[in-house]
Amino acid sequence: MNTTVHRLRGVGVSPGLAYAPAVVLEWKFPDVPDRSVSPDEVPGELERLHAAVEAVVGILDRLRERVLERAGLEESRIFEAQMMMLRDVDFLAGVEHLIRQNNLSAETAYEFKALELRAAWGGTGNVRLRERLADLLATQIRVLRHLMGQSGEELFGLKEHRHVVIVAHELYPGLTVQFDRDQLLGLVSEEGTRTSHAAILAHSLGIPCVMGAAGAVARIRSGTMVLLDGTTGTILIEPNIAELEAAQITATRRHKLDLELESTARQPAVTPDGHLITLMGNVDLPDEIEAAVRYGAQGVGLLRTEFLVTGRSHLPSESEQFEYFRRVTAAFGNETVIIRTYDLGGDKFPAAFAAPSEANPFLGWRSIRVCLDQPEIFRPQLRAILRAAADKKIQIMLPLVTRVDEVERAKEMLAEEAADLAKAGIRAAREVPVGVMVETPAAVIIADRLARVSAFFSVGTNDLTQYTLAVDRGNANLAERFTPHDPAIIRMLRDVLAAGVAHGVPVSVCGEMASEPLYAVLLLGLGFTTLSVAPPALPLIKWLVRTVPMEIARAAAAAALESAGPREVSAVLRDAVRSLIDLRLIDPESTLPGRASGGSLLL
Ligand code: PEP
Ligand code: MG
Repeated sequence: MNTTVHRLRGVGVSPGLAYAPAVVLEWKFPDVPDRSVSPDEVPGELERLHAAVEAVVGILDRLRERVLERAGLEESRIFEAQMMMLRDVDFLAGVEHLIRQNNLSAETAYEFKALELRAAWGGTGNVRLRERLADLLATQIRVLRHLMGQSGEELFGLKEHRHVVIVAHELYPGLTVQFDRDQLLGLVSEEGTRTSHAAILAHSLGIPCVMGAAGAVARIRSGTMVLLDGTTGTILIEPNIAELEAAQITATRRHKLDLELESTARQPAVTPDGHLITLMGNVDLPDEIEAAVRYGAQGVGLLRTEFLVTGRSHLPSESEQFEYFRRVTAAFGNETVIIRTYDLGGDKFPAAFAAPSEANPFLGWRSIRVCLDQPEIFRPQLRAILRAAADKKIQIMLPLVTRVDEVERAKEMLAEEAADLAKAGIRAAREVPVGVMVETPAAVIIADRLARVSAFFSVGTNDLTQYTLAVDRGNANLAERFTPHDPAIIRMLRDVLAAGVAHGVPVSVCGEMASEPLYAVLLLGLGFTTLSVAPPALPLIKWLVRTVPMEIARAAAAAALESAGPREVSAVLRDAVRSLIDLRLIDPESTLPGRASGGSLLL
């Protein structure tokens, strides 16, 4: 272990400062000694095994209840999946068999089978299994610790500290929700990027987060104080007084900006030269509804629905989805809520879903493809939307569209469900506008054809960047190449907008790019008048809209379109706003801003 390294750099994926002891999640099994038992001890070992499993199930159930109370039903479901894994009959039969046949102690046999399973899952190269693998590991570590008398309610030593910064090799959406929000001040991971779903979640929850911090797990010891800056992507291990003071100054400066932002939050999103902009919110989890409303979101431009299935043991029923959609629409009164149909696949799949293993899941059976192939998943969602839309402004958005017939087929299915509901006398909308997420190069190129069958377009710049630049959005090693401000993307944005305008189809942007201030300026300059952004970013983007005249944004966008590469685009954008905005408030190195978020600095 190298303890001399003092500063680590990663990518700031969720802004804010945090200063707290680190808790390093090593995801390691405890050292289990190889121990055999005598034949007459075998029944006792079998009993110990089941007692340990049930004890851990009990712990998980208590955690589930706590999360249920704090975060809601959906998030608590992650524990149901974990409990199911723990009680897996085949796995436990395998452990029992080893105990009986080889006279092994319960922990030795359990570790053996757990390692075997881990090797099988880890070796598939299947991204979807990786999230489940983390869940599996967490549960197995708990059982092993219990068998070895090391158990306690808390697995990671979190009990020792009131506040912590979690450091892990990789973070998963499911992992983030397991921690007590008040206790969790920051997140650090070696893997992951700005558009990994765990990063999007951390951002939505306002937890400062740095990803892509190579060597973090080896270099940070649990218990050491770390200062992380989720804006700049810097991590200081045991910072000195001068560094803490500097952080304090940064915090004060950002706080000043926050106050300024607060004062604009209730004002209209209008540029100084009188152009009205619509700012909607992206809602990934029920928790964010309140923040989106509080920050003045003019409706929901992207309601992600995957949380309804990921980490759960079964698919949500139609009525469960209906209740959720009602809840969201109720919070937004008369404003539009755009529900994105399940974007499953890639790194998002339900635990219980028997999806085939694929070499390239991001190029595989994903999103609209899954929905069209699996009507039993898609139709209940469509029905729930139709019912929720009976008296509310709801629109449907289809993810990862690459072909016109996908939209046509989805619309046919929607019409069939609408007719069925009407026939059954169930209160529901007869029609709901169906729009397309433009997030593949194919969709950009055939935008004119898609426009004929789409009520609107919403550009998903996360995937559009991934697929256009051929850069895995979750690969930390390629983070520098993941540039939504690349001229290639900017030109696509221009073209989609032009196609939309030509066919009278409204076009907005809901990818993370819209939540980043300089890029938001670029989007405004390109002519986008509706942006959907992460709720914590709403005040800053509003402030920007109110600060940067459209004339300046347009000139910057025109120069960006002619730029040779993303670096030049960044320079163009900085130069454009330099006289209007204190650029020190926006990260000087990376593109991520300091924005009003829940990040806290305890000094
Ligand atoms: C996108 O791809 O830009 C997007 C908004 O969708 P997601 O991040 O959920 O893939
Ligand atoms: Mg996408």
